[in-house]
Amino acid sequence: MKHCIFCKILRHELPAQMVFEDDQTVAFRDINPQAPTHILVVPKRHIASLHDCSPEEEVLLGHVLRVTRNVAEKEGLQESGYRVILNTGAGAGQSVFHIHFHLLGGRLMSWPPG
Ligand code: 5GP
Ligand code: ZN
Repeated sequence: MKHCIFCKILRHELPAQMVFEDDQTVAFRDINPQAPTHILVVPKRHIASLHDCSPEEEVLLGHVLRVTRNVAEKEGLQESGYRVILNTGAGAGQSVFHIHFHLLGGRLMSWPPG
């Protein structure tokens, strides 16, 4: 997608602090971190939200989740725990309409989330 901010980041047209990249996925640090570790894990394919996913994208989403787990391990979060968030729709706080998992860690997390 031409004007999507995350598509621009994954094409390296906009700068970001990349922490991981493979053929299907990128992971980079959130510009406005909500925890000591706050990383966005993003499929390279432009999918607007979880609700826009097709059955053919099940395997891709599983891969992105597995990458999220591996990035969490690389960041040393496995002992303390971490939170993975997928905001879906503006009412749930989604502001960038290219699907992404938030990986948050490095502080205590409260429940329920706000
Ligand atoms: P959402 O609100 O859609 O769940 O999450 C979007 C996230 O993207 C927010 O946490 C926001 O801080 C982050 N974000 C928005 N624009 C940029 C950007 O240009 N670079 C980076 N690294 N993060 C961004
Ligand atoms: Zn996009």
